[in-house]
Amino acid sequence: MRLSRYFLPVLKETPREAQIVSHRYMLQAGMIKQASAGIYSWLPLGFKVLRKIENIVHEEQQRVGHLPMLMPTIQSGDLWKQSGRHNSYGPEMLRFQDRHGREMLYGPTNEEMITEIVAAYVNSYRELPLTLYHIQWKFRDEVRPRFGVMRGREFLMKDGYNFDLSKEAALHAYNRHLVSYLRTYERMGLQAIPMRADSGPIGGDYTHEFLVLAETGESEVFYDSEITDLTFGDRDVDVDDYSACQAVMDEFTSRYARTDETHDETLFNEVPESRRRSARGIEVGQIFYFGTEYSEKLGAVVQDETGQKIPLHMGSHGIGVSRLLGAIIEASHDDKGIIWPQGVTPFHCGIVNLKQGDEAADGACESLYSALTALGLEPLYDDRDERAGAKFGTMDMIGLPWRITVGPRGLKNGVVEVTSRRTGESEELPPEEAVAKIAKIYEGKL
Ligand code: ATP
Ligand code: MG
Repeated sequence: MRLSRYFLPVLKETPREAQIVSHRYMLQAGMIKQASAGIYSWLPLGFKVLRKIENIVHEEQQRVGHLPMLMPTIQSGDLWKQSGRHNSYGPEMLRFQDRHGREMLYGPTNEEMITEIVAAYVNSYRELPLTLYHIQWKFRDEVRPRFGVMRGREFLMKDGYNFDLSKEAALHAYNRHLVSYLRTYERMGLQAIPMRADSGPIGGDYTHEFLVLAETGESEVFYDSEITDLTFGDRDVDVDDYSACQAVMDEFTSRYARTDETHDETLFNEVPESRRRSARGIEVGQIFYFGTEYSEKLGAVVQDETGQKIPLHMGSHGIGVSRLLGAIIEASHDDKGIIWPQGVTPFHCGIVNLKQGDEAADGACESLYSALTALGLEPLYDDRDERAGAKFGTMDMIGLPWRITVGPRGLKNGVVEVTSRRTGESEELPPEEAVAKIAKIYEGKL
């Protein structure tokens, strides 16, 4: 992409409404624009990152066998009356009537709708296990929408639902989600720690929240510092193997890690004092097992091997897709702007032409641009007729992990400069080697 043809409304002033850095940088980098409280338009740069995050979620869901689908945003109130949540969900649910006076709502979550679908079509144990998911906009009329996309009213969520014949099978699905979520967040450059949580309006005994530690997080968390040494890495877990998934669950949840809702001082005090931590965290996901409550209410019943009718064991599992942009920025930035982890960066590298209009510089930039593009990479070429300082400022703000700087002086010596956004370190290389370096960094990751 050439910056002269892109839509990147970078703000010069610091937006006053933003209280936390991710919100400020998303506005300044021209990623989002508020439409009304807690509701945002996603401008091209923000939308690009949102799509990258979504893609990682899709890939990791499908890697473990979960099936993508799409349910509507608008739901019928009647369905929610069957589960009993039409009343209990409260003022967070946006309700309205259609022209015929029917009660409708903008879905805050989809347990009812998915259970009704499964109830309509699944009749036999042979069709199980089944995990369906979608990535769809949700609406929750939050009392205090704030912090930009972190606590929006309209937000994008991946929500998945497992249907199993027994509690044991459903708990395997629960463990499998934990495995897949750990991988998902790490691919985004995040450490998200599973913590024992409170089940809230969805109900059930088994639930973990995934929290990214950050000072600006809204949740208070308590944990054993050893937990932060754990990484999922590139383990190859057989997700159909119950004990392999259980082992990962045990490994990642055996140390103390809880949110304030489930915090237990007595248990916490058993952790050696030097390892006890209390901090703030951003909830980027949550998994639940809640048994047969919804299937009983909505008729998701199948015949087992003996012909007996049994209600399905269910769980639901959410990832805050749009909130993740904020969480990633909170975890990865400096005073000049965003620093995107390589897995989610909107462009793989920037090209800065220090002297637009200079024949050698223009030519070198063009050939870098086509060489990178030919390798399947997406560079952002700042070809505007702007001062070098302004170009660097924009690149630093939008946070591309790598920048290639091209100027007449370097070219005289046959080199361009490759700079890491994270470390600030630069290296002078001949243009072909600069291309090879960037290609190597992203090798196998496109
Ligand atoms: P919170 O406690 O932050 O209000 P929640 O527990 O009500 O969230 P869930 O029902 O668990 O939310 O939804 C799954 C995920 O969706 C959450 O882990 C979070 O990442 C994201 N999410 C929830 N509410 C919002 C919101 N208002 N704006 C953006 N993302 C949200
Ligand atoms: Mg939650």
